[in-house]
Amino acid sequence: MQPNLVSGYSRRLVIKSLGVGFAALALGRTVFAQSATSLTLAGGTAQPFVLPKLAYAYDALEPHIDARTMEIHHTKHHQAYINAANKALEARPDLRELSGEQLISRLDAFEEPLRTTLRNQLGGHLNHSFFWKLLAPAAEYKPGALRAAIDKEFGSLTAFQGEFAKAAAARFGSGWAWLVVQDGQLKVISTVNQDSPLMQGAQPVIGLDVWEHAYYLAYQNRRADYVKAFWAVLNWDAAEAAFANAGSI
Ligand code: MN
Repeated sequence: MQPNLVSGYSRRLVIKSLGVGFAALALGRTVFAQSATSLTLAGGTAQPFVLPKLAYAYDALEPHIDARTMEIHHTKHHQAYINAANKALEARPDLRELSGEQLISRLDAFEEPLRTTLRNQLGGHLNHSFFWKLLAPAAEYKPGALRAAIDKEFGSLTAFQGEFAKAAAARFGSGWAWLVVQDGQLKVISTVNQDSPLMQGAQPVIGLDVWEHAYYLAYQNRRADYVKAFWAVLNWDAAEAAFANAGSI
């Protein structure tokens, strides 16, 4: 028997989502809310999953992230995660109404090999969808609530960036560095492979892909230089929006 994922969906998330003004979706006789994150930052998370369009050209982030890397990363790597996630879910019409965020938040409910496939492939889709929205050509930015919270939690922006860089460097092999809200607190964490912060009940605010495919063409082994360059193309407005949707701390 399959677990009833819809009615078991996190009450906390439902309340939070409704609280920030998103309408609940009526699905047959069951009503539940999409997570705020899925609607605002990781577009295209309804099934079947589709490659989100970028809001900028592949060369828009030069010289910090090169056009060739962006194009391969978006059209090949990200698309491959989507294809594999969709393929695994083809045989599961009972799960079709669930968003990517809902599925990744409930991995324990699934049997193998679906669980591992979703962890890797759906995780890859969600992480990359979030990442693209966090990037932008350098622009004016008026610091908001997030920057105030960073100052409060880490002491300064520079101190936060140092901690983030440390997490990115310490992630052995492939993975991600994150700023998240978890248990009402801003935290820097890293995840292995394509693990999503949502798997541990953490809401992503800033995320950086530190797989070699994200930087190898331009930076080769110099991950630290790539991490440093990230700050020049971070869309702080998107991070502020993610922070606002992650709930107040
Ligand atoms: Mn990647």
